[in-house]
Amino acid sequence: MISKKMVGYVQGSSAIRAMFEEGKKMSALYGAENVYDFSLGNPNLAPPEEVKQAILDVLHEESPTFVHGYMNNSGYEDIRQKVAENINQKHGTHFETQNILMTVGAAGGLNVILKTLLDPGDEVIVFAPYFGEYRSYVSNFDGVLVEVSPNTVDFQPNLEEFEKKVTAKTKAVIVNSPNNPTGVVYTEKNITALSNILRSKQEEFGTSIYLITDEPYRELVYDGVSVPYVTKYYKNAVIGYSYSKSLSLPGERIGYLVIPSEVDDFQDVVAAANVANRILGYVNAPSLMQRAVGRCLDAEVNIGVYDKNRKALYNGLTEAGYDCIRPDGAFYLFVKSPIENDVEFCNRAKKYHLLIVPGTSFACPGYVRIAYCVAYETITGALPKFKELMEEFK
Ligand code: PLP
Repeated sequence: MISKKMVGYVQGSSAIRAMFEEGKKMSALYGAENVYDFSLGNPNLAPPEEVKQAILDVLHEESPTFVHGYMNNSGYEDIRQKVAENINQKHGTHFETQNILMTVGAAGGLNVILKTLLDPGDEVIVFAPYFGEYRSYVSNFDGVLVEVSPNTVDFQPNLEEFEKKVTAKTKAVIVNSPNNPTGVVYTEKNITALSNILRSKQEEFGTSIYLITDEPYRELVYDGVSVPYVTKYYKNAVIGYSYSKSLSLPGERIGYLVIPSEVDDFQDVVAAANVANRILGYVNAPSLMQRAVGRCLDAEVNIGVYDKNRKALYNGLTEAGYDCIRPDGAFYLFVKSPIENDVEFCNRAKKYHLLIVPGTSFACPGYVRIAYCVAYETITGALPKFKELMEEFK
């Protein structure tokens, strides 16, 4: 009796759910300490102490009817103003309150902007490998997802193929950097080249093409790598940000969209996004969390912990003979499967109690994703298992 569209969504999500269930079953059988679960991007670090203090301060200092009440669907004006100022300070931009829309995480923000922009049949381009949920987000609004195949040399965007895939129907492009699942940060050179392509295609077709960035991992970068702020390179850019990873708050569902005043049809886009936030059923981003993050915009998790994991895992797996992409950001390692069939490889890994995700879920078969937002002991315990697993394929 359920809708045909939902049948597809349920089937699509069952693989991840199956993995989650499998992890629980294995932990019950063998003990949690003997199961190496690298399947989820759920931060293992507690939120910074400032976040807890901010929540307490909000509850003590602000009026309960204000803190827990409805507000403008785009969020509290003072918080949007603070967010704008904070971005301006970090990135040398010139945003104001009207450019910020508080959202229910990055997922909420992406759904809002896609609902705002898409008519049925409009095309949205994504670069493989990409976060699999984009398929559903685009299909929610009857858009057509157009995939650009992966550049398996360095996992930077494949711009040659991209240029050929931009058509008169292209309404939006989604870019995710630092990337899930590769951890790769798209270079300034490539963001510039991508922007140039979009500008010339807009001119050729007489259309507006919106570049949407999905950046929950913006703050999680290593070795001083910088992540270009795309509004500086392209006028029709919309930023989707989230505190899920940067402040370890994924369950709290808080983030924002930046819609610069320079985007085509700015007033209409902002008005529509405000309504989209409401009628998608979010109404507004969680009120207490808006107030809390507004007080700790410069707080950070200790990225040194992820960096230690990154190095241990990258070095250990490389020594064991795995071919890995060295990640500059996020908390994922993308590893070439020693056999062509990545799904089969992930199944074989389960024998060693290793839970990893096939690249097929990210439209990049032949690779697997290892999420290293786990305890360091999980990595040191797992490395000998990965070694044994590799021996099977030598
Ligand atoms: N986009 C990417 C690339 C992600 O990896 C995730 C979560 O893992 C999301 C969006 C969703 O983030 P949020 O929890 O902020 O909705």
